[in-house]
Amino acid sequence: MHDDMSDAREEMIERQLIARGIVEPRIIDAMRRVPREAFLRWGLREFAYADESLPIEAEQTISQPFIVALMLAIAQLGPNDHVLEIGTGSGYAAAVLAEVVAVVDTIERLPQLAASAYNRLTSLGYDNVSVHVGDGTLGLPARGPFDAILVTASGPVVPPALCAQLKVGGRLVMPVGPNTERQRLCRLVRYGDRTYYQEMLNFVRFVPLIGAQGWGGITEE
Ligand code: SAM
Repeated sequence: MHDDMSDAREEMIERQLIARGIVEPRIIDAMRRVPREAFLRWGLREFAYADESLPIEAEQTISQPFIVALMLAIAQLGPNDHVLEIGTGSGYAAAVLAEVVAVVDTIERLPQLAASAYNRLTSLGYDNVSVHVGDGTLGLPARGPFDAILVTASGPVVPPALCAQLKVGGRLVMPVGPNTERQRLCRLVRYGDRTYYQEMLNFVRFVPLIGAQGWGGITEE
């Protein structure tokens, strides 16, 4: 894509992604194809490729480009994968995912955010993404099991409902921590019917995952 933000987008790719070790061509190409500015509210366009998360409606955030790319890299996605994203927010990460895998389901608890994300994704021509409204801590059992689940809000534990909706061999990536200030990216792999391997990776800071198996559910903050 060549447009008036192309230079800023390329600079983001060089300085924020490649310089930090995100080099997988399919992820780099996807980050190059998705116009982050289209997912921002009016007045924030000039910051579209800043190295930070930015505010969206309802006091939520669009994730930092590096964190979006990092979560995709950690999830080790294949081109035929069916992915569930929890926390649609602006729809930006869902668009990047849609460039990398075959099918994306994304779920958002706030209907107004889901509606604007749906409009953006539709107007950009993404026909392999379905936007749902609901409590993503419970997953989307009718659409699963999934090759990968990306949770883009932070919870106290990985919701058991999500573990159960991973295929054997499936990967889940989610910020997990004891509070809403600081978390670590958790990578969980399902090895067998009841066998999971979990490791804690980079420190991150995400808005809270609110729901039956998130904050306010399993554990009170
Ligand atoms: N992926 C988003 C993007 O690319 O713009 C950023 C997501 S934002 C950091 C986290 C989102 O998770 C918020 O929109 C919030 O409303 C949503 N959220 C929080 N708890 C949720 C839940 N239980 N189910 C679904 N969405 C939830």
